[in-house]
Amino acid sequence: MPPAPALSRSRLPSFPLEFYGADLRVPLVSGEQVRYVNLDCAASPPCLRAAHDAVQRALPWYGSVNRGAGYASEVSTRLLASSRAAIHAFAGARRDDAVVLTRNTTEALNLLASCLPADTAVVVFDAEHHANLLPWRGARCVQLPVPRRREQIVERAREALAALPARHRLLAVTGASNVTGELWPIEELCAMARRHGARVVVDAAQLAPHRAIDLAALGADWIALSAHKLYAPFGCGALIGRTDWLDAAPPWLAGGGAVRRVSRDAVEWTHGPARHEAGTPNLLGAAAFAAAGRTLEEAGWDAIETHESALLDQLLDGLRGLREVEVLSLWGPSAPRIGVVSFTVRGWEPALLSAALSAEYGIGVRDGAFCAHPLVAELVRDGGAHGRLPSALRASFGAASQPEDVSRLVAALREILTRGVRWQYVRREGRYVPERDPRAQPELGLPFAGSVARPCDQA
Ligand code: PMP
Repeated sequence: MPPAPALSRSRLPSFPLEFYGADLRVPLVSGEQVRYVNLDCAASPPCLRAAHDAVQRALPWYGSVNRGAGYASEVSTRLLASSRAAIHAFAGARRDDAVVLTRNTTEALNLLASCLPADTAVVVFDAEHHANLLPWRGARCVQLPVPRRREQIVERAREALAALPARHRLLAVTGASNVTGELWPIEELCAMARRHGARVVVDAAQLAPHRAIDLAALGADWIALSAHKLYAPFGCGALIGRTDWLDAAPPWLAGGGAVRRVSRDAVEWTHGPARHEAGTPNLLGAAAFAAAGRTLEEAGWDAIETHESALLDQLLDGLRGLREVEVLSLWGPSAPRIGVVSFTVRGWEPALLSAALSAEYGIGVRDGAFCAHPLVAELVRDGGAHGRLPSALRASFGAASQPEDVSRLVAALREILTRGVRWQYVRREGRYVPERDPRAQPELGLPFAGSVARPCDQA
């Protein structure tokens, strides 16, 4: 049975962040145990101690928010307000911007999509994560092809916006790609959109854990982000930005807290974030989100960027040494990127490699099309054999990652490419799993589900 997960300090002296699971040991099919290497941080990074501590501090005071008259209710109501203010500050939002709390980025973008004035047209690139692609399809949406030269992006977006006769125009764009890690020129896009009277929403799910967000300086109208990607996995996200479209739209959720008064046949909806946040709010998630944001700021964005860039160079260097590996990129090696690197390996199915990296080496990566099917189809030209989606492997890291994580991945890949996998794998529910898997499951207080069908290609 694997021992309980540990909490440990990140090993970088200049970087005093503590994360859960930093010394997590996981079983291998060989019977050994090794420290887990989480190179799937773009999907779900580990939890910051500061986020967990904020939840622990709040728990004794946990009570109804905006509802009860008791002392704990007052404390809880204030804690939500101060968490919202801290999230507002973390985003560098303008004084009048609203912070609408959601479950995650996906919900934040869907919420904004439900608030578009009737005659709004939306411009979006095919390179987006599905969370920033599918919500717009119901609107009058122009989907632009994946841009293969970075310097084309602003002009392509400008032409598309200029060609739209609609009264309201919105550009929906990511800050950083969850497939290639490449940074989009959002400052230039926002400046161009402003000159042309269009609005911009930035999907900051991948950007926010790696770079300071300054909504006011950026001049975007909204950003959407997820606290779990900011090391605070307690079910909270946010849509942050202008209030006019939000206040004029029907509430995202109808129910308690979103209304001023209700009669038998009429409702007067409230304004501000509460309009879209009916139901009991996620107080603990918001407190964790706020604490994580503050902790990252205190660690310093320069320190975070320096740390992650060194890991990125190390990984790209290591992958360059493997002949079979091809790193996916939209704009070539000089394009700025965060610590997200997807790649294919000639002669190998990504799903088999990711299964072997986990079962034989204790390394967690992602394989698949990363909820960005059009982009992966564009980048993986010879993929999609046997009617399957084109797919790749993705290694992604962040503030909790260490140089040893990268060296273990590169060494494991080299070994597999030289010697092959050392276990038998079978395809089950669309994935490879070790045949006769001897690894024990940890004791988590609930009976363990046997095999779990995965709904699709997530995150
Ligand atoms: N946008 C991007 C760029 C993402 O990487 C993700 C998550 N992988 C999302 C949106 C959706 O985030 P969430 O699953 O937290 O809603």
